[in-house]
Amino acid sequence: MLSNSLAELDRRHLVHPVSSFRGHEARGVRLLQSARGAVVTDAEGRDLIDGFAGLWCVNAGYGHESVVEAAAAQMRQLPYATGYFDLGAEAPIRLAAELAERAPGDLDHVYFCLGGSDAVDSTIRFIRYYWHSRGKPQRDLFISVGQGYHGSASGGAGLTALPAFHEGFGLPYDWQHKISSHYIYRNPVGQDPQAIIDASLAELRAKLAEIGEDRVAAFYVEPIQGSGGVLVPPPGWIKAMRDLCAEHEVLFVADEVITGFGRTGPLFACEDEGIVPDLMTVAKGLTSGYVPMGAVFMRNHVYETIAEGAGAKAVGHGFTYSAHPVSAAVALEVLALYEGGLFENGRRMGARLMAGLAELRDHPLVGDVRGRGMLAAVELVTDKRNKTPLPAALDPANRLFDRAWEQGLIVRSFAQGILGYAPPLCCTADEIDAIVERSRKVLDLTLEDP
Ligand code: PMP
Repeated sequence: MLSNSLAELDRRHLVHPVSSFRGHEARGVRLLQSARGAVVTDAEGRDLIDGFAGLWCVNAGYGHESVVEAAAAQMRQLPYATGYFDLGAEAPIRLAAELAERAPGDLDHVYFCLGGSDAVDSTIRFIRYYWHSRGKPQRDLFISVGQGYHGSASGGAGLTALPAFHEGFGLPYDWQHKISSHYIYRNPVGQDPQAIIDASLAELRAKLAEIGEDRVAAFYVEPIQGSGGVLVPPPGWIKAMRDLCAEHEVLFVADEVITGFGRTGPLFACEDEGIVPDLMTVAKGLTSGYVPMGAVFMRNHVYETIAEGAGAKAVGHGFTYSAHPVSAAVALEVLALYEGGLFENGRRMGARLMAGLAELRDHPLVGDVRGRGMLAAVELVTDKRNKTPLPAALDPANRLFDRAWEQGLIVRSFAQGILGYAPPLCCTADEIDAIVERSRKVLDLTLEDP
C-alpha cells in the first residue's frame, strides 16, 4: 500500500527529531491526505476532527479557497522581494500597517520572520541591541518562566523550560534564568490566585536581587503557557509581573505565538490582561499554517532606541525570507476571514468547548479542566484527592493520542497525561460537541484499561 511505502521512506529519510531518534520505540508516521474546515482525512480515507488545528496553528481552518487564491495571485505577480533591506513589496507593508493598527498600545513596529522560533530569537537580538543603544550592555540576562516554551532555535530553546530542549544541547546558556511556573493545579503554595501571584512576585524580586536588577534585560511570558500543558495564570498574574518589570526597567516580552489570532478570544491575549508588552512575538495563526510566517512587534520606545543607537550603521539582523510577499498576502487574507466572522465564531465555540469540557470534571480520571476560549486542557489523574498522575510507565501521552485517534479525534497529549485542545475557530457546534463526546469516550476507555 502507498501509505506503507511512504511510512518506510519517512522512517529512513525524513528526520523528525522529537520522534525519529527513539530507536525501536519509533511509532511511524500517520499520513494525512486532505483537510477541509476542521476535519482532516487520513491516508485510508477516514475523517477525523482536528482538535488541535495542526500544531495550534490552523486557526482559520483548512480549505479556504480565498487564501489559496491570494497566495497564487502573489506568486504570479511577484513571488519574492527581499525584506532584508529596502526593496519592498506591497503585501508585507500593508500587513505591517494593518497589524500595527490592531496591536495593543504603541506596538507599532513589526519585523517579519518565518515562524515563532526565529521571532523569539530575533527579540533576544533586538533587546541586546536596545540595551547596547542605551549604553547599558551589561543588561544581558534574560528571565523566563518554568514550564514555558519559546521555540527550538538556540536562544528561545534556552528560555524554554522543558528538559528535552536542554539535555544534550548545552542549554540553557549562563545568561538565561527562570522563575517557577504559575501552574495553578499543582502549585506548591496552593491554588489561591493571590497566593500564587505573591509567590511569583517574591520569586522574581529575589531573582532580580540575586543576579543584579541592573543586569536584567528582559522577562518572557506566554499569556497562557501552551506546550507546558495549557497553564492559565491566575487572573492578574500577568499584570502584576508586567508592573514589577516596569518598576525595574526590565523589558517585558509577551510570546503570543499560540495565544495570538483569536485563540483565546480577542486578537491578542494581552488584551484580556489589559497590558501592553514592550515586545510581542506571534506566528502560527498569523498565516493559519497555510505558509510559514512569524513576527515581532516593538513599542515605539524600543524601536526608537534601537534606531538612535544605530545612527547611520546597519543593524545586522535579517533573513532572506523576512517579510515574504506570499506569506504576507496569505496573512492579509486570513485576517480578513478572521474579522469576517471567524473570531466571532471562535468566541462562541470557545465558550461551548469550555462548558462541554467542564462537564468532564465529574469523571473519575479528571483532575483539572482549564483553558480560555479555543485553548483548553483536561488533566488526568488516577487519584483525584492526591492528584496522582497517570503512571509514566504506561506512556500516557501516546496511549491518549492513539485512543483519541481511534475515536476520530486529533488532540495533543502531553507526557504527564494531559489532553490539549486548540480546535480551528471555524468549528461548528456539532464538531465542538463531538470533540467533548469523543474525549469522554477516551476517558472511559482509559478508566477501563489504563
Ligand atoms: N513560542 C511559543 C509560545 C510556541 O508555542 C512556539 C511553538 N509551539 C514557538 C514559540 C515556536 O514557534 P515555531 O514552532 O513556529 O518556531
